[in-house]
Amino acid sequence: MRTGILYLVSGPSGSGKTTLCRRLAKEGEATYARSCTTRAMRPGETDGEDYFFLTRADFEQRIAAGDFIEHAEVHGNLYGTLRSEVLEHLKAGTDVVLDIDVQGADLVRACVDPLITNALVDLFVTPPTHEEILKRLSGRGTDSQEVIDLRMKNALEEISYAPKYRYQLLSGTHEEDYEKFRSLLVGSRLATKLQTSAG
Ligand code: 5GP
Repeated sequence: MRTGILYLVSGPSGSGKTTLCRRLAKEGEATYARSCTTRAMRPGETDGEDYFFLTRADFEQRIAAGDFIEHAEVHGNLYGTLRSEVLEHLKAGTDVVLDIDVQGADLVRACVDPLITNALVDLFVTPPTHEEILKRLSGRGTDSQEVIDLRMKNALEEISYAPKYRYQLLSGTHEEDYEKFRSLLVGSRLATKLQTSAG
């Protein structure tokens, strides 16, 4: 039996990475690790499904309790990956998809737990052009101009982290992107370091 793959995916807002991750989970290829966040819920989002929405005080309590593998401040809010959403699945041989920002990715790469280091497959998704990022950010229709401006500034900074990722996906059409995205996971299942017994 092999241990699960930790499929870590980053990319600026508007790169389409969340859609890719969600679809992978929906098609039963991997479990989506739900994060905690202090940001406000967007229309259409569900607590416990899209995120666990916490107050800052609750979030800080969970940091102190050691509940997170990593946590970071992104766009002025706290986001964190729960141990409980990742480790047991990996041990059981289930692949886990992690949709996190570039700071979180650095922290996961710095983990010393072999269950994580051996499992890690990291991918950066980049939108084709700056105009496309802006179009996608504006098209969401739920964020204020101020939020869009902040996310655009952050997007350009996040793209500078792309070379840290082993795999890169330059976004094209939804179908092309998904095909490549899924193929990387399928191919990674053949990696020798994952062919170990979960014990
Ligand atoms: P959004 O608020 O648009 O859902 O997400 C904003 C950013 O936070 C995205 O880049 C997303 O990947 C990132 N993010 C979501 N969950 C986590 C997490 O648990 N940890 C970190 N470091 N970033 C996260």
